This record gives sequence, C-alpha cells and structure tokens, in this order.
Amino acid sequence: MTPVSQNAIVVASRTDPGRLRAANEDACAEFAPAEGEHLLVVADGMGGHRGGEVASRMAVEIVGRAYASAGPGTPADARLRSAIESANRAIFAESEANPTLGGMGTTLVALHLSAPRSEANATATVAHVGDSRAYRLRAGQLEPLTQDHSVVAELVREGSLSEADAALHPRRNEILRSVGIEPVVRVDVQTLEAEAGDRFLLCSDGLCGVVSDAAIQSELIETDAHAAAEALVVAANAAGGPDNVTVQVLDLPARSTPEVSPPQSEAPPTHSHARRRGPWIAGLLVVLALATTAYSIWQATRSG
Ligand code: CA
Repeated sequence: MTPVSQNAIVVASRTDPGRLRAANEDACAEFAPAEGEHLLVVADGMGGHRGGEVASRMAVEIVGRAYASAGPGTPADARLRSAIESANRAIFAESEANPTLGGMGTTLVALHLSAPRSEANATATVAHVGDSRAYRLRAGQLEPLTQDHSVVAELVREGSLSEADAALHPRRNEILRSVGIEPVVRVDVQTLEAEAGDRFLLCSDGLCGVVSDAAIQSELIETDAHAAAEALVVAANAAGGPDNVTVQVLDLPARSTPEVSPPQSEAPPTHSHARRRGPWIAGLLVVLALATTAYSIWQATRSG
C-alpha cells in the first residue's frame, strides 16, 4: 500500500439541468473539514413549488457545516451519520413551518476522504439515503458502493425484477428513504480503504438512471477528472437528458514512484579518461614485456 499525497487529490463537480427540465433541483458541494480531508455531497431534491431546490441546497450546506463542527475525536462514519440526521431535522422542520415547502425532501450521497500526510492509507467513508449513488473505479473496473433505497432496487434484490426491466418499470422513480420527509431518517454508512489510483464517483439518478454502469465505466476511463465529469454529463444529455444530472469525481493520485536522487555529476572527462586509460597502458606494457622475454628465451633455446 502506498500513502496518498493529499496535495494531489483532484475533485471535479458538474451539475446540469438536463434537456427537459427548466429548473435544477440537484445540488452538490465540496468541503475541506480539516487538512487532508475532503467531503463531497450530492443531493437530488423533490417537492412542489421550489421545495426540491430548497431541500437539496439545505441538505448539502447543513451536512458540510455539521460535519465540520462535530467533535474532532468523533470517527468519520459517526460524524457523517450525525450530519445527515441534522440536515433531516432542519429540512423537516422547515417544511412543517412553511406551507409552500410542505413535503419537500431530498436524496443524499456523501463521501468523506481522509488522506493523512503520514504513512497511513487513505480512508473513504460513504453515506447515502435514497437513489443517488457512489461508485469506485479501481484498475479500470467500476464498482457500485451503494444500494438504492428504491422500490425497483428492492424488487431486483429479492429476485422478482431483472436489472433490465427495472430501468423501464413504472415505479422506477419511487424512493423508499429520503432526507427531510419524516422526523427521523435511516442512513447507510460504510467505511472502506482507499488506494492510490482509485477514482470515486458520486451522482444523482439523472446519470445512473439514464446511462448504464457499463457506459459510465467507459466514460470514467478518461484520464483527467474534469474531463471525466464533463463526459458523464454529456453522456446523460446525449441519452435524452430527462432529469437534472450531477456528478462529482474524486481522484487519488496514482502510485507514487520512490524519490530518485539526482544523478551524480560526472567527473571532468580528462580525469575520467586518464583513470580508464591507466590500467590499459599498464596491461599493454606487461604483454610487450612477456612477448620480449618469450622471444629471448626462444632465441636462446635455438642458438643453444
Ligand atoms: Ca433526479
């Protein structure tokens, strides 16, 4: 395992209304809760009037703020869960207090990445509610890190619906959990080790509900995080862009090569040649001496 240099971590974020919707009810943000830490949040709001926009923006802002203000000794998974619960309470209270925002809510997926300067490895913590997703691309293979809290995902898990049919199912947009709809929210949180060269993707269903995992994987092969994020938005819009689309790509730098010390400066050429020529001349003289001796012995033998 190679420690990750946090200076080289790259984050690219894109959000786009898509091709059919006038408003963008998605929101996303990146925070730096402490040195060597990155917190990415994607939220996909829903609700009449401006409810969706308000809920997703509140969720992103509150999670970032609540995460940073938690006690520093608290582990990332507990902090993330608690931050999302704070967002849930605030959005629920706002929707109760403001009739025009009644019933608003949002999905949410968050990634916290800790890449200390020490020899320790990077650690990723992923939390989600609803059908916004996290993926990891490692060695060219795309791996889903979250399981949707949705009606069709449940049907696929219990084996009564195929993945292919899920994409066309009339209830494909129904989610089973969201932030702000009820006084209490259940959050799924997991912690995993991150390796040098890993690429993480967070997205709303405007991407993963429209573009297949295989196509997402091929777009993520782009070497540059910003180009990859842009390519994903383009792919969603090329597939009709029926929904708001938001993507965040985080790159851990590839395995660093050990530091190479600068090459030793060459000694001046004259010295170098002299050092090399010395033994060569000595060898030649020895050969000549031997040959002369041998010739003398041969002549002595002959005359004798
Ligand atoms: Ca959506």
